[in-house]
Amino acid sequence: MAFGIYVHIPYCLQRCHYCDFTTFATSEIRPSSEYLELLLREIKARAHLFPAAQLTSLYFGGGTPSILPAENIVTIIAALANAGFPIHADTEVTIEINPATMNEASFRIYRDGGVNRFSVGAQTFDDDLLARCGRKHTALQTRQTLDFLAGQNVNYSFDLLFALPGQTFVQLESDLELVAKYNPPHLSAYCLTVPANHPMSAGRPADPDQLRMFDLIEERLQESKLIRYEISNFSRPGWESKHNLLYWTDQPYWGIGLSAHSYQPDEAYGVRFWNSNSMQEYERQATASDVPHKQRERLRAHEALTDYCHTSLRRSAGVDLSAMGLRFGEEIASLVRGRLLSLQAAGLVESAGGGWRLTRQGVHLSNQAFLEVTFSAQELARLPSSPNLLTR
Ligand code: SF4
Repeated sequence: MAFGIYVHIPYCLQRCHYCDFTTFATSEIRPSSEYLELLLREIKARAHLFPAAQLTSLYFGGGTPSILPAENIVTIIAALANAGFPIHADTEVTIEINPATMNEASFRIYRDGGVNRFSVGAQTFDDDLLARCGRKHTALQTRQTLDFLAGQNVNYSFDLLFALPGQTFVQLESDLELVAKYNPPHLSAYCLTVPANHPMSAGRPADPDQLRMFDLIEERLQESKLIRYEISNFSRPGWESKHNLLYWTDQPYWGIGLSAHSYQPDEAYGVRFWNSNSMQEYERQATASDVPHKQRERLRAHEALTDYCHTSLRRSAGVDLSAMGLRFGEEIASLVRGRLLSLQAAGLVESAGGGWRLTRQGVHLSNQAFLEVTFSAQELARLPSSPNLLTR
């Protein structure tokens, strides 16, 4: 079984206008040296929760991990190794970096410490649009960061954000020209999502244009041999993010740090637990051998099934009904099959290569497709096998 560790670094150069992660501008919270101490305490105290797990991936996300001194990242990698989670030749070790927060010296410290994948928060190569998002970096700084990584022969990815306020197709085309120029091994493309009354919702491309932008991105990426393997993620074949795949394939992961979430499959439907998003509370809890009861939930059959369907449909591999039968039983697999057939009739999914996956229209209307494979406790209780299902 694969296993991943996520380390949350909640520090950023600025708070971007659209961001809803638990992050802070560096001046707003305690010094990062103190936060590092809390992470090290948590690693020591909770390593026992994942005994004998081999590390498939380690991911430093946030926030902007690259604004911490690079040595801190290496200290965390060493602490994890001491706690029983050494990285090995196949472990994917990713750090998210903001353009202009990494230099040649810090790159070498990361690389020598075991980091082998760099994920750059590029967003767009248009300075006006970057300013509207509240990002402090410039397009030139992004290009300098990407030029540097491309010259180092390392695995890297970058994020593109589209459907930004005032963004035109011409601006998107010019972002995509730069994608083609860099032709990175991996790219994530996200449609901006903000609530209707958010200041950034004004002036955004209309819904049909957002969908056309989505299609244009896929088309251009395909020309660069970057293939969609999840709704928002594209890669050259074999360069998919191992870490993200863990989340989408029901594998265990341990989230360390403020607000980080963890998941452990078990003989029933698995357990989720999470750290507090209050720094004071996180500090109080960091040395405890487990999280408090209120930050833990045992998944019930309908929740696990819904998660399984949604994460499978997000991937281009789609829903594998045979695997589902093994995990949830044949009766459930047949219930899901019925739903997939309805979605097929509506043109939202197709059966291909042993899986049921979203069609292009299904990608556009993914919320509608997800709704069809969202299950309630009552619904599963009506199945003849429900006593076994519910008490597993
Ligand atoms: S840099 Fe990233 S994590 Fe930090 S505020 Fe901006 S979008 Fe959020």
